[in-house]
Amino acid sequence: TGWPGAHDGGQPQLGGGADPAVPTADDRSGAEPATDAGEIMMYYQPQVAIATGEVVGVEALLRWRHPRRGMVDPEELIRVAEQSAVMRLLTRRVVDDVVEQLAKWSAAGLGLRAALNVSVRDLHTGEIADQIADRLARYGVAPERLQLEITEGALMADPRRVLTTITRLHRIGVGIALDDFGTGYSSLQHLRRLPLSEVKVDRSFVLGMTEDTDDAAIVRSTIELAKALGLRVVAEGVEDERTWRMLHAAGCDAAQGWFYARPMPAEELVAWLARYRPLRPLGGHDEAE
Ligand code: C2E
Ligand code: MG
Ligand code: MG
Ligand code: MG
Repeated sequence: TGWPGAHDGGQPQLGGGADPAVPTADDRSGAEPATDAGEIMMYYQPQVAIATGEVVGVEALLRWRHPRRGMVDPEELIRVAEQSAVMRLLTRRVVDDVVEQLAKWSAAGLGLRAALNVSVRDLHTGEIADQIADRLARYGVAPERLQLEITEGALMADPRRVLTTITRLHRIGVGIALDDFGTGYSSLQHLRRLPLSEVKVDRSFVLGMTEDTDDAAIVRSTIELAKALGLRVVAEGVEDERTWRMLHAAGCDAAQGWFYARPMPAEELVAWLARYRPLRPLGGHDEAE
């Protein structure tokens, strides 16, 4: 069927329905049935305010644990899912899981914000906006707790329809982040035209910025541009202290990366938060050299 590993395990189990290819909105029964198709779940990666060390939110990242292949690369999963109606089902599942998780954290006294990623076709109809509005109301979660991360590639497919969906979400209070900034097309057009709250610097630039002066220059200009436009800027792929300090010197608002924490299941995140001690970049010397 074109699924990664379809020959030895089939599609990931999307919900409690008999046929994983056609679950409806309400056929999830809570607990995941164990099937030989493996398990779909969300991992969460902390996002940290660079200046204070405070955890400002998490990014929800899809994981598929295949019974024989182990964790499947999400980019591979998304690429294949996007070729069929499966992407729509995956996104519905992600929205459901993340909003429900926000409600659970809220009940546990954790005022976290969560960002979730959406794909090209998800924004071509208003369905996702309807679903998000419905779930937020049903779980009593404030829209400001939720953010959508969209990629520039997604915007290219049908800018007008995408803009309509994004504008609706923005109006109800859901934040919109432009993900992987600098890797797509017409970035500057998007910055001007979309109701964005945040720009995410792609990890391909961040990973190289301590070694490569071009990468560092791109990261710094992106931060400057975002701030000049009044947008929050978040760097992904911060793996070491030096990168973190350079980002601080460059005025980046927040960061995520292995330096702080890897993406992890929701239960682990609670334990991580309990032992987390904020790190703040100290010292008056120039880090941006
Ligand atoms: P993304 O949205 O740009 O997510 C950031 C990626 O950077 C994640 O990869 C994360 O694990 C990785 N990352 C974070 N910190 C570090 C670091 O310090 N070093 C390195 N090397 N990598 C780091 P992941 O989880 O493999 O996801 C890859 C991509 O798959 C995401 O990129 C996103 O485009 C897509 N994706 C993931 N989950 C979903 C989802 O639920 N829906 C959709 N549509 N796409 C998703
Ligand atoms: Mg993202
Ligand atoms: Mg990204
Ligand atoms: Mg990416």
